[in-house]
Amino acid sequence: MLILCTNDDGYRAVGLRTLAEVARQLGTVQVVAPDREQSATSHSLTMHHPLRAHPIEECVQAIDGTPTDCVALAVGELLGSRPDVVLSGINHGANMGEDVLYSGTVAGAMEATILGIPAIAFSYVGRDPAAISAYAPLLARLVPQLIRPGALPDDTLLNVNLPAIDPLEVRGVRVTRLGRRVYSDSISRARDPSGREYFWIGGGAVSWTADEGTDFQAVDEGYISVTPLHLDLTNHKLLAQVEQWELHA
Ligand code: MN
Repeated sequence: MLILCTNDDGYRAVGLRTLAEVARQLGTVQVVAPDREQSATSHSLTMHHPLRAHPIEECVQAIDGTPTDCVALAVGELLGSRPDVVLSGINHGANMGEDVLYSGTVAGAMEATILGIPAIAFSYVGRDPAAISAYAPLLARLVPQLIRPGALPDDTLLNVNLPAIDPLEVRGVRVTRLGRRVYSDSISRARDPSGREYFWIGGGAVSWTADEGTDFQAVDEGYISVTPLHLDLTNHKLLAQVEQWELHA
């Protein structure tokens, strides 16, 4: 089995190293990952400047682009053959609720899904990346259970969030739906040393509505969250209602 690993935190990230270490127990691993921090780049594709692949070590290449670029280049050009599965992560930080729309890690898995390759995104909910490597033994048991060729529809990927606790304390695995994230004060407004105003997005207090069955609730209660995501953003329930608007040109 050929496994492509990528992420959005860059090829040096401990989360990616841990994921690749787990994947090597399951098959042949190629890592194609951004050469620097690409978190929150979502599903962006670099089209207006050339991309270069830098060999880092055997079976590891760094790209000066986004996670989507990495998967597209790996599958289209860099790997000798098509990967059987793409694993993205382990992201340094949660990707739950609306965060999946901003995440480069989730987008890397989505790009694989678009290319018809089964894909799983992994994220660690805690703030200390050094704690991620302790998850390797647990993931060596879990990841083979998640790789099920043909089991999911073509447009579907899995989004996995690991709770910020000692893996030995994990209570189990829950299949979840996306919750809702609530950001407050996430834009800072300040002045630089020369007195010019600037803005900074990020930080601030983060809370969520940990409703029953959500990813947030699962990790909050010490479970690993597994959410099946699909790429069709159509609100199928609303089609008939909007149809009744009788829109005309
Ligand atoms: Mn990230």
